[in-house]
Amino acid sequence: MRIVDIRETAIPLKSKLANSSFDFTEMTTSVVAVITDVVRGGKPVCGFAFNSTGRYACGAPMRARFIPRILAAEPETLIDASGGNLDPAKIFTCMMRREKAGGHSERSIAIGTIEVAVWDVAAKIADKPLHHLLAERFNDGKVPGNVFCYVGGGWYWPGQTIKDLQDEMRRHLDAGYTLVKMKVGGLPLEEDVRRLEAVLKVVGSSEHLAVDANCKFDRAEALRYAKALSPFKLRWFEEPCDPLDFALFAELASVYAAPLAAGENLYSTQDVENLVRFGGFRADRDIIQIDPPQAYGIGQYARTLDMLARRGWRRRSLFPHGGNQMSLAMAAGFGLGGAESYPGVFGDFGGFADDARVENGAIILSDRPGIGFEGQAALYRIMRELAGI
Ligand code: MG
Repeated sequence: MRIVDIRETAIPLKSKLANSSFDFTEMTTSVVAVITDVVRGGKPVCGFAFNSTGRYACGAPMRARFIPRILAAEPETLIDASGGNLDPAKIFTCMMRREKAGGHSERSIAIGTIEVAVWDVAAKIADKPLHHLLAERFNDGKVPGNVFCYVGGGWYWPGQTIKDLQDEMRRHLDAGYTLVKMKVGGLPLEEDVRRLEAVLKVVGSSEHLAVDANCKFDRAEALRYAKALSPFKLRWFEEPCDPLDFALFAELASVYAAPLAAGENLYSTQDVENLVRFGGFRADRDIIQIDPPQAYGIGQYARTLDMLARRGWRRRSLFPHGGNQMSLAMAAGFGLGGAESYPGVFGDFGGFADDARVENGAIILSDRPGIGFEGQAALYRIMRELAGI
């Protein structure tokens, strides 16, 4: 068997939302299709992925380096020992040929997105949901029926009132979610605290609410927010400062007792190791939120988990960023703390399968082979057109 083609296209997200630091009006994502010569039901078996939300499409390095390397490799060097399926680790190694150490984000998103699409097609060839395949390979075969899931919401949008924000949070609770996250840092501290208190009235208590500052604050403002948020004992305080300011993270961890969270803007195992070594991150409470397709994909995620385990971290402390079925499958397959969800935002790229149900804060997992994009009609239309199937 072999890969016959890999295609990429950039699609706009068409979102008017904003966090504290930027809006999404220009945001795009790369959709990738990996097409194989395996035929089922008269059609080639294909794998799909996209590079999540929050980083722009990255087709240029895919087309210039990573796709040509895979297509130029001898097909038998990319398949597993059985000879009947692709080996994602070998394909990753092929993409990394002639790549210099460091500078991860210049390539980690392009490589990670292709790698996740390879896992999608490998799971389909094995005729299993991706979370089954990952559980077999990386979690002693423990396949859960559902996954805890929280809503990444509470965005800023033009003309929004506090009542609008409360209504949004009520919709999330009515949909079955039990933990919601809201943005902070887009308004002066006093107004943000008013928003937060209004949301707390809706969700009931602070263990049901996290906040996300999207790296907005300098040292003075981060410490000011930490002091103001401390008494609320929130579920977590996400990305208070620059993602690579490990000294400031450590300072915040020394004065802010409730959980901190970060990781969606780290792109390598080494970056994450630096966060836990030098950023004061506490294995007994803090949360790590790597975005898998943006950080070299699934195989690298497994290596990051091994590194974290050596440093005393449990998988329950990891919540992959993304609000999509890629992160959902990984949360399920690796046995992580849970997944993020973006209901009703990011157009075709937000949310899960059209028939997904949330009960008591957890998503019931589907048994579609692969990641399950076939269950997201609007998104799958884009993917099918790209693959020409
Ligand atoms: Mg975030």
